[in-house]
Amino acid sequence: MKLVFFGPPGAGKGTIAVKLAEKLGIPHISTGDLFRAAIKNQTDLGKKVKQILDSGALVPDELTVDLVRERLTAKDTNSGYILDGFPRTIPQAEALAGITELDAVINFEVSDEILIKRLSGRRICSSCGFIHHVEFQPPKHEGICDRCGGKLIQREDDSETSIRKRLSVYQNQTAPLLGYYEKTGLMIDIDGAPAPAEVLSSVTAALEHLK
Ligand SMILES: [Zn+2]
Repeated sequence: MKLVFFGPPGAGKGTIAVKLAEKLGIPHISTGDLFRAAIKNQTDLGKKVKQILDSGALVPDELTVDLVRERLTAKDTNSGYILDGFPRTIPQAEALAGITELDAVINFEVSDEILIKRLSGRRICSSCGFIHHVEFQPPKHEGICDRCGGKLIQREDDSETSIRKRLSVYQNQTAPLLGYYEKTGLMIDIDGAPAPAEVLSSVTAALEHLK
């Protein structure tokens, strides 16, 4: 199954991708992980990526496509994969179409109100990185990490102003891409509002229909 996962920040697509990948026995490929791995392994592409990210710029489409292309030649992708965070632009989507033939594009739909509630309630442990949520996973003692006793903080990124900005960047960036995939007939819309287990079964059910 060759899949692309789409969704705004906070839609939970990363969580669903990890679970579905495990279930289907295929790799979950996120561009963030690809960048980090390439930098860590100091490959030629990794060195270029590091230079660009260090300068504060966005990694250009061409370089991202090269990384994905390289990753998709690995043997573990023979029976499929889930791409998460790629493609983000129409040139990337067109390049991907030249590399591989997708089975489906899963579009996780979640209202802005729910996304803001999910993201703005996150509290991250400043020492171990564990993520609590004031409503959905509150710590036993306020402001203290259950796992290690560290201090919980709210990332600047998770303030409501930043979240609204992130969501509008997402809308501007991906709206054209959704149009692109709608035309290909590959797109499946999934309600991302329920709990992860329920969202996962909707995705699984939708994919059953494809076979
Ligand atoms: Zn902690």
